[in-house]
Amino acid sequence: KIKSGLAQMLKGGVIMDVVTPEQAIIAEKAGACAVMALERIPADMRKSGQVCRMSDPKMIKDIMAAVSIPVMAKVRIGHFVEAQVLEALEVDYIDESEVLTPADWQNHIKKNEFKVPFVCGAKDLGEALRRINEGAAMIRTKGEAGTGDVSEAVKHITKIRGEIAEYKGTLKTEEQLAEKAKELRVPVELLKETLEQGKLPVVNFAAGGVATPADAALLMQLGCEGVFVGSGIFKSSHPEKLARAIVEATTHYSDAKKLLEVSSDLGEMMGGVCVESIKQTDKRLAEIGW
Ligand code: PLP
Repeated sequence: KIKSGLAQMLKGGVIMDVVTPEQAIIAEKAGACAVMALERIPADMRKSGQVCRMSDPKMIKDIMAAVSIPVMAKVRIGHFVEAQVLEALEVDYIDESEVLTPADWQNHIKKNEFKVPFVCGAKDLGEALRRINEGAAMIRTKGEAGTGDVSEAVKHITKIRGEIAEYKGTLKTEEQLAEKAKELRVPVELLKETLEQGKLPVVNFAAGGVATPADAALLMQLGCEGVFVGSGIFKSSHPEKLARAIVEATTHYSDAKKLLEVSSDLGEMMGGVCVESIKQTDKRLAEIGW
């Protein structure tokens, strides 16, 4: 409860990937609500083909020293020792992330056993609720990190919202609820709570492929409560201006005049790679371990 309360404070905000203290300062000045400290952004990890692990705590520490906003850092799926290390470092949030190479293809980290809040990725309601049941204080769509293609993030939030709306309308009896909970492998109480609230019981951000102010506003209009921007900002020609524009667009997500203003004259966006062109689905990060 305390942990999901902490995550509520990020609501409506933008969380930016940064690889240096200088980038973290730019993100903070642009109005980011938090930064994600990484050695390499997903667009570069995607190219590397190497094992991607937790970043060097020294570089995370340097970023923590440079800014006053919360700092997040990533651990591999199932790598509870990387999480112990980052908790000892006192990062503000841990992202158990499919962008890194999974350490365990069966089990995610038992996040309830930690004091630090976790964020996890999800593509559908079952995945989101399993992560929440393990103790995640925040969910983000998986999207397709590093591509600059927003379509997978759109697909995932639409799926999650759609399943909640559908089950709310169709699951009427205790038996039907129990059956669905069993199918999703989550406690029936958690499913009930979600359907009663008509939304996930934790903060639900968008992530994966967000590159422009309009992308951020699109996901907000689709029901996300904030956005992560990874490769988009510092792969563009004017990171400072774009960072500020994405923050503005996320705040004023349904104000078309404002979106027009902040979308104009931003220079070159990240090149990107369209998801359809990644023919082998096993190269898609969102499909890892599925
Ligand atoms: N996502 C990733 C990246 C995984 O590695 C795994 C499984 O190991 C899963 C999702 C599947 O988790 P679940 O079946 O609980 O949704």
